[in-house]
Amino acid sequence: MYSKDIMSRTIESIRKPLILCTAILLGCMQTTLAATAPPENLLLICADTVRYDVFEALNQRGDTFSRFQNKGLTYKNAQSAAPWTLPSVATVLTGEYPNQHGAGLFSGEFANLDDTLPTPLNPGSETLAQTLLNQDFKTQLITAHPFFVAGFGIDAGFKQIDQRRGWEKLVQVLSKALDKFAHKSNTVGTNPQAAPETAGNAELPQKKVNKKRFFAYLHTMEPHEWHTKDKQTRAEFQHKAPSWLRDFAVSIAPAATCKDETMCDKWITYVAAVYETRLALTEVFNQLESRSLLDETLIVFYSDHGEEFYDHKEYAQELAEDPRGFYGKGHGQSLFQELIHVPLWVMSPNINSGSVSEIVSLKSVKPAIEYWLGLSGNTQSPLPQADTDKGAKHGIAISTAIAYGSHQTSARLGDEKGIYFEEGERLEGYNLSEDPFEDSPSKEQQYIFAIEPTIIDYLESQPQAEKGEVSVSNESLEKLKAIGYLQGKEN
Ligand SMILES: [Zn+2]
Repeated sequence: MYSKDIMSRTIESIRKPLILCTAILLGCMQTTLAATAPPENLLLICADTVRYDVFEALNQRGDTFSRFQNKGLTYKNAQSAAPWTLPSVATVLTGEYPNQHGAGLFSGEFANLDDTLPTPLNPGSETLAQTLLNQDFKTQLITAHPFFVAGFGIDAGFKQIDQRRGWEKLVQVLSKALDKFAHKSNTVGTNPQAAPETAGNAELPQKKVNKKRFFAYLHTMEPHEWHTKDKQTRAEFQHKAPSWLRDFAVSIAPAATCKDETMCDKWITYVAAVYETRLALTEVFNQLESRSLLDETLIVFYSDHGEEFYDHKEYAQELAEDPRGFYGKGHGQSLFQELIHVPLWVMSPNINSGSVSEIVSLKSVKPAIEYWLGLSGNTQSPLPQADTDKGAKHGIAISTAIAYGSHQTSARLGDEKGIYFEEGERLEGYNLSEDPFEDSPSKEQQYIFAIEPTIIDYLESQPQAEKGEVSVSNESLEKLKAIGYLQGKEN
């Protein structure tokens, strides 16, 4: 065995240049922020189950959302903290990794979301909605996902909650909410009661004195659902997509996907659903633009995890750990890149457009939002705001909280990635610049040397609270079953 000291020094040699790059960047970043006041409002959007590769390939091809996307900042190497909804969303909302926020964990040696309820959010973990509510924001959750309303705690801090199926209905609710918010903004200044407050404060814009800031969270689910339907429903859904989409989807399919006819058809449906999500985003942005809210709103878009389409079927079959008895499809079952490399994109009047190559974790989203809204004491952005010449070689991200099988934790340090399996205490290393699809674990020990201490640090960090328990209503359980979870759980 090698000593932890030696490994810590290896990590330090990786971290130091990173800190230096960030420090150099800070100069330009602060100039940008000083020139523009923080945005008033926040719109956080999650499209469930969107792989980075598909989302970005559609943008490269060009569609209605590209007009907006190219005005924002794209994170090219963002990693989710978990390969399924509950622990991943909880990390975004709390800024904590799963062993701290506690949501979406399973006790015992194996995780099994097929017949066991996962743990809820620790009451001690403060959500973004709670933080912003304390700052007097109006908070509204508009979601298609039943996990938000099933008692797991991730709805904490939202004063108004609406659950609807299908993005059109979600956008209708958002549209009404925006009308209310925009109305407030327009009427301020004509309200005579506002006058005494503004007296002696002539340098302050009037709308700032009286206006209530808003935080709306929108969570859509098209790419989670459509490819899991039967053949005829898939065909009907595909029929709505433009004629070029089928060939395009096949051209960007993972190597093994279209060797299987059914899996290929599911993939095409999935790509059509991601395309549909981009139409939904376009509609959301049109709504914001028509109310002149784009220049006063921070918009953050992410996905909570990806989806597997036989990317690692043979590997999983050999491992034989998935309690559902099928392999290589869905999400929650591994920490390979198809499940944790996700879109992260921001647009705000105080953020320049462009892209960032550095590895970032969705754990940084909450502190970055607080920074961008001007609410934190941070002197620098928790997420890089411009590219460094080091690109993807830098940055650290942890992923964990498997839903099916033995517990796993992965660490990504730049191009290097390790996945630790608690069963058998096994660590596999990959170099993602040489082996981007994680086809075979590296035999070179240097990857293991660099990554092991990061994983040990994570595993040794103490949870904030005991793993909690949750009781879920039959209605919520039925809704979760309808989207494929807890198939073996009795009501
Ligand atoms: Zn999800």
